[in-house]
Amino acid sequence: MLTAKAYAAPSPTEPLVPLTIERRDLGPKDVLIAIRYAGICHSDIHTVRGDWGPISYPQVVGHEIVGEVVEVGPEATRHAVGDRVGVGCMVDSCRECEQCRAGNEHYCLEGNTQTYASVDRDGSITQGGYSTHVVVDEDFVLKIPESLPYDAVAPLLCAGITTYSPLARWNAGAGSRVAVVGMGGLGHLAVKIAVAMGAEVTVLSRSTSKQEDALAFGAARHVATGDDGALDGLRGSFDLIINTVSAPLDMDAYLATLRPEGALVNVGAPPQPLPVSVFSLIMGGRTFAGSNIGSIRETQEMLDFCAEHGIAPEIELIPAERINEAYQRVLDSDVRYRFVVDTATL
Ligand SMILES: [Zn+2]
Ligand SMILES: [Zn+2]
Repeated sequence: MLTAKAYAAPSPTEPLVPLTIERRDLGPKDVLIAIRYAGICHSDIHTVRGDWGPISYPQVVGHEIVGEVVEVGPEATRHAVGDRVGVGCMVDSCRECEQCRAGNEHYCLEGNTQTYASVDRDGSITQGGYSTHVVVDEDFVLKIPESLPYDAVAPLLCAGITTYSPLARWNAGAGSRVAVVGMGGLGHLAVKIAVAMGAEVTVLSRSTSKQEDALAFGAARHVATGDDGALDGLRGSFDLIINTVSAPLDMDAYLATLRPEGALVNVGAPPQPLPVSVFSLIMGGRTFAGSNIGSIRETQEMLDFCAEHGIAPEIELIPAERINEAYQRVLDSDVRYRFVVDTATL
């Protein structure tokens, strides 16, 4: 077994602390990755604090991982030593169900194996990217185009694919009008990607504090939804709404801003149910939907798309010792727009 340095949560209530963990020996198709950068996703915080159910501790999180291949198993052919690679939210799946066979391993009927806090195929609990090394089956390892900035690329592995996938599935492009609700880690990438796809993008966010950024990322306009009646003037405006907010919103008011046959897709995950009046869907034949990351094939497509269009996340690079402080700032929505941990500081 290989030992790796990491930063782990000892319990749901204590701060994360430095810890040494073990990574499995390389299997035939595994690659050993020396992690260089790991993004901090809101899901990391929910998971270590037990918000989404009990987990075992200590737990290392982080599912926006980039680094270099330093060793490959004897049967691994997709990646070579020295390659710049990435790992996102999943590291395996059953590979036999109809979804896996169709290339939708993220919707594996057995549930995919998550990068952290998940039971791995060997029965161990997966440990995530706030670490110096990780061992992953090569089929779940992405190629990182060299033109993407090494330190800023990590958030594409979760936030990037989470927003790219519904934009692609609902055909955002020239002539389509897309609204992005909330402009945090997910939202700012939704804006950049939708703009690059050719859509006319409107940002709907609570205050005007991010208006300048929204326009700089290519949005055509920004509407502050905290103002009274802000949505009233937008009735029937959008073909597609990507909702990145993980708190309850008045869904009927947002659905009313869709054009007939438009879709509102949720990628933010509020813990409580969101009430929706069925009339908001029937009138205008609208769709209320959700989307979860994307397949490995689509994640590679997204990385290549971002390289082609020069899209990179906006990040704040931090040393490991500032992870706990960063968590509080994520909870306070005080980050533009994603923290990335420099794993050389572990
Ligand atoms: Zn995430
Ligand atoms: Zn499967």
